[in-house]
Amino acid sequence: MKNTLILSERSADIGGFTVGRLLPVRQKRQVGPITFLDHMGPAEIGPDGYMEVDQHPHIGLSTLTYLFEGSIEHRDSLGTVQLVNAGDVGFMSAGKGITHTERTPQALRNGKVMNVHGYQVWIALPREKEEMDPAFEFAAQTKLPVNNLNGLKITVVAGSGFNMQSPVFGHSPLFIVDLESEKKTTVDLDKHLKGEIAIAVASGKVHVNGERISAGQMLISEDTLDLNITTDPATRILLLGGEPLGEPRYLLWNFVSSSKERLKQAKEDWIQKRFPKVPGDDTYIPFP
Ligand code: MN
Repeated sequence: MKNTLILSERSADIGGFTVGRLLPVRQKRQVGPITFLDHMGPAEIGPDGYMEVDQHPHIGLSTLTYLFEGSIEHRDSLGTVQLVNAGDVGFMSAGKGITHTERTPQALRNGKVMNVHGYQVWIALPREKEEMDPAFEFAAQTKLPVNNLNGLKITVVAGSGFNMQSPVFGHSPLFIVDLESEKKTTVDLDKHLKGEIAIAVASGKVHVNGERISAGQMLISEDTLDLNITTDPATRILLLGGEPLGEPRYLLWNFVSSSKERLKQAKEDWIQKRFPKVPGDDTYIPFP
């Protein structure tokens, strides 16, 4: 455990829906390759309004969507149409440029209220892949490796950890792990995960080396050495991190790059409508 930091989420609006933003923060721009983290919910949406994230672009990163409750329909400029249900992983690598939308599925809008709870993560691409062709990967819940450890249910959402490998590898060494506890349990993280780490508490609470971290809070450490988590009963946390990239990343709106010039180019391309479009969608989120 090194240079630890405890943060609380700050609210932000992403299109008819308020999220708790956890990264980036001034004190810590990235955790491993992870540059951005939103905690979505827990919230009830509908019947008056549903999630509507209109067409917007990305470059230089992968976005990962992982829900505990609810469903999101993802559409992108590759022509992908994918329902991401609770427990599934949607993983979109923007590379040189992609456009997408995220909405409550039409089939679930029949005047119903629905619970939404989960995370959206942005992962910076390593320099040699920043300009890769865009791609979308999907892993259904049933494809994710799961193990039980002293009453903890461990699911490897992306990358590798706890001696398991997710089918969603990511583009550099990383881990995103979902940990659910039924009872009070202690786990020595250094045995299972390597690298910089963020411990985000979705529900319940944990103690990390004596410090209490509650739902909506997150602890960051620059390594997992001597890092012990004790979970409360009925607690769910997400562990995220990995090896830092070799050089800093810059963010401009939805764009991530190791080059500030490239960010300006992406901004100009969006304003000039030079990005590919999502088939059949005429919405457009202007550059703020
Ligand atoms: Mn997006």
